[in-house]
Amino acid sequence: MTARAPFQLAALPALSRATAVRDESARKDPDRLDRLWKSGQVILVDRHGRTPVRDAGTALLPRPSAEVAAERPDAALLLGEEADTAYWALPADVELRPTNAPPGAWSLWGGAISDTGEEWHDLRGIGALLDDTAAGLFTTAVGLINWHARSRFCAKCGHPVAPTAAGWSTKCTGCGREEYPRTDPAVICLVHDGADQVLLARQPIWPEHRYSILAGFVETGESLEACVAREIAEEVGIQVTDIGYLGSQPWPFPRSIMIGFTATADPTAPLVPADGEIEHARWIHRAEITAALATGGQTPTLILPGETSIARQMIEGWAATGA
Ligand SMILES: [Zn+2]
Repeated sequence: MTARAPFQLAALPALSRATAVRDESARKDPDRLDRLWKSGQVILVDRHGRTPVRDAGTALLPRPSAEVAAERPDAALLLGEEADTAYWALPADVELRPTNAPPGAWSLWGGAISDTGEEWHDLRGIGALLDDTAAGLFTTAVGLINWHARSRFCAKCGHPVAPTAAGWSTKCTGCGREEYPRTDPAVICLVHDGADQVLLARQPIWPEHRYSILAGFVETGESLEACVAREIAEEVGIQVTDIGYLGSQPWPFPRSIMIGFTATADPTAPLVPADGEIEHARWIHRAEITAALATGGQTPTLILPGETSIARQMIEGWAATGA
């Protein structure tokens, strides 16, 4: 049974912010799309998910569409409209040199710089630095581009597909089958003890001292709540109760949505980390979490998830309001 969550997210997750209007009616109106292209702005995304930015990664640097192409390219994806401007996305084939991430960015990867000195950064790194409009546009751009890059052939007959509806669907060139952008649901759960401890775990491939809350993909035929209980049992060997919903955030790496829950467990039950998946799991006192949050999310012995992740908002929410 689902319980009422005992705390709330600290804030709307960084990538759940969006203001642009998704104008579905425009997507199948070629004349209107052509007009929207001519006065539009284009968010370019390279094959590593990076886009040009300005002001130390706090703002996107879209191109006026006229600079990109006089006529609307077939591959142009209509993201939405904001303040009388249509925003589009296009994959970019560019060569970039590695550079450092901007201050405040959280990323496993650095950014990149173009021959003309433009900085390019990825969504994971700068998602939390952007304003609401830019965060929503970049998230949608990355999600749509990732879908097209991984769905180029018909799942039924194997022929190539062509983009339709300004990138919001594809049609098979062989059998005519239509396909729409896929999203894989994944649950993420903050497990606490009902008092002052939270359960965090780390994967073997993560940098030393980095810990987060538990997450996993929803399986076919499974409810979200059943997935929460199964994933936690599989990953650390404990049973949870009082599963409650917190919020969600798109996570287009390449095509997930993270659905956040909280649950309670007995901190005296033995933890059994899943072989190869969880290197270490431990209960951590609220004071240690609060200390890490006060110093930008890390101390010498604990690195919390970055500010772009819903995990960070969940941990901050729990730390601030108590269980
Ligand atoms: Zn087909």
